[in-house]
Amino acid sequence: MLSFEEARKRVVELKDALNYHSYRYYVLDDPIISDSEYDLLSRELADLERHYPELLSEDSPTGRVGLKPAGSLKEAVHDYRLYSLDNTYSEEEVTLFDKGIKEALGCSEARYICDLKIDGLSVTLKYQDGLLALGATRGDGFVGEDVTNNIRAIRSIPLKLRRDISIEVRGEIYLPKDVFQELNRERAKRELQPFANPRNAAAGTLRQLDPAEVSRRRLSVFFYEVVEPLKYGIKTHEELLNFLPELGLRVEPNYRVADKVEEVLEYWKEWSAKRDALNYAIDGVVVKVDDFGQRQELGYTSRAPRWAIAFKFPAEQISTKLIGVTLQVGRLGNITPVAELQPVRLAGTTVKRASMHNFDFISDRDIRLNDIVIVEKAGEIIPQIVRSIPDRRTGEEREIVAPVRCPVCGGDVGREKEEEVALKCLNPYCSAKVSRRIVFFASRNAMDIEGLGEKLINRLVESDLIRRPSDIYSLDKERLLGLGEGIGEKLADNIMDAINDSRKRPLHKLIAGLGIPGVGAKLARDLANYFGSLSALSKAEADELMKVTGIGEELATKIIEFFSVAENVEETAILDELIEFEQEHSEAEKPLRGMKIVVTGTLRNYTRKEIQERISSLGGEVSSSVSKSTSFVLAGESPGSKESKARSLGVRVLNEEEFEEMLKN
Ligand code: NAD
Repeated sequence: MLSFEEARKRVVELKDALNYHSYRYYVLDDPIISDSEYDLLSRELADLERHYPELLSEDSPTGRVGLKPAGSLKEAVHDYRLYSLDNTYSEEEVTLFDKGIKEALGCSEARYICDLKIDGLSVTLKYQDGLLALGATRGDGFVGEDVTNNIRAIRSIPLKLRRDISIEVRGEIYLPKDVFQELNRERAKRELQPFANPRNAAAGTLRQLDPAEVSRRRLSVFFYEVVEPLKYGIKTHEELLNFLPELGLRVEPNYRVADKVEEVLEYWKEWSAKRDALNYAIDGVVVKVDDFGQRQELGYTSRAPRWAIAFKFPAEQISTKLIGVTLQVGRLGNITPVAELQPVRLAGTTVKRASMHNFDFISDRDIRLNDIVIVEKAGEIIPQIVRSIPDRRTGEEREIVAPVRCPVCGGDVGREKEEEVALKCLNPYCSAKVSRRIVFFASRNAMDIEGLGEKLINRLVESDLIRRPSDIYSLDKERLLGLGEGIGEKLADNIMDAINDSRKRPLHKLIAGLGIPGVGAKLARDLANYFGSLSALSKAEADELMKVTGIGEELATKIIEFFSVAENVEETAILDELIEFEQEHSEAEKPLRGMKIVVTGTLRNYTRKEIQERISSLGGEVSSSVSKSTSFVLAGESPGSKESKARSLGVRVLNEEEFEEMLKN
């Protein structure tokens, strides 16, 4: 802990910083640090104030809700205060929260309701005799902004309730994720700074634009509060969430009652894994005491209710410095700029690199070398750069220029089609392209040629010994030895053996190795099962391809495109000749052909991977979720919800013995 004097200085710094960032966030809708960084500063200030209470002042951001509006909109003075929420990122603190609630209420169990925390901005709406009369933002909790006209433009907010009552309701306005992405793409093209996240975009939309634009941007809303609920006979939050839809007001449907803190933690875990599946951003779970009588007993602090806590998800955004850009040349020649970042911790890992997609992305968003950028890790495993923060520039920044020559072979760079954003190396024999394609072909998921790894392939390509995958089969020991350093007799023999072994792979391995865009190992297997030969696959029409699960129009088009390139047709034909496909099972030996099978629970005789391979080799398809079109569910021990779902849908459930028995017959 800092000494008192040090703490005093730090408190001033923190207050200044938090006030500045709040202004950027609430008034300009243009934050320059991430929420988790803000929360960290705020937590540091609260800790110092707790340790040195004499440093706590009336104007501290830790005791305040948002900011008083400073824009040009009319002010709206709230009859009833709007509060914020205390927040935490830790399980431990949620457990302590539960303990505190039970102590304060003097009971051994408390009943909670868990809501998803929508990452939007809160509004309060007044209806008079069922008609929408006022819509206002939260502001500092006492005074907000009158946004009635814009609220009226949001289609999911009824202008008239289904009952003629007078009531004040509160909820969260949000921008659906797909609309957010579209909006940012559009803004980037118009050389406007993209919004940092859907919340800022929603706030910017609601507070600054004309109603026609609000309507176009498809804002939406979820409600979670009624002012003075007891007046309407509502005694619990659960009752409230049933009451609101009766009036025609939307509630977020995934809430859950929890009778124990463990259930709260379970709900949080579940949604931190599932959050990306929703089309609206959520940044945590709000845990609330369900009973309104108990809420009254617990009361409020200066900024938040004591009966609720926001249990936030780990940060998905952070700011850091862009210290370099490397160029990667892909298997198909795409040149992708990759951001080299000052390492930062984000969602449990250290992030050093991030995707920048393409050069249009960089120029549209005015991202410069040495910029501070916002990095996001949302769902995708690969972190992305969201935008740069021009307000944190120091003068050291440099423009990032698209290459005119391929960084690997020095060949021309361009776009294959005008509408394409990706820059490509146009040299068909660029060693990066060639190498990557061959590395992919020889990899474990494809032809599985042991010993023929990236380094060796690079050397073979550089020595002009191979230019495409089929050339591997014209290699001989002498040529391998001719590479010199590091390649001895024994290694050369082993590699030649591995190459020869690979001539007898099953069809699906070769299909995977062709490098058809969008076709991975699993799909290759399904394609092999369905078409049975390379020539049938290469001639397939779209409607036939789309009969294979997982192939839609877009993928079917890609497959057809692949087989319409002369070079691919030629290479496929050569490989078809070279490989003596190992027959896994003849047609008659594919008893599971056309069946969709779901596996659940622990099997005695197979690991998960083994059973998947067995089913595939017998012509069946393994899918992960049960639906009416599932042929049967194979259930091992402790099968879980998939089995019960199957039973409720009337789908057959087999145990391991019954499965083997079926195959015998
Ligand atoms: P908050 O967003 O953390 O939580 C409170 C709000 O959650 C409520 O006011 C309500 O609007 C909303 N909410 C969403 N779903 C809800 C639900 N189901 N039930 C109840 N409420 C729900 O708090 P805040 O006061 O709005 O904002 C503070 C936070 O904003 C900070 O913790 C920080 O993360 C962020 N912030 C960031 C910056 C920055 O520079 N990046 C600056 C200021 C604030």
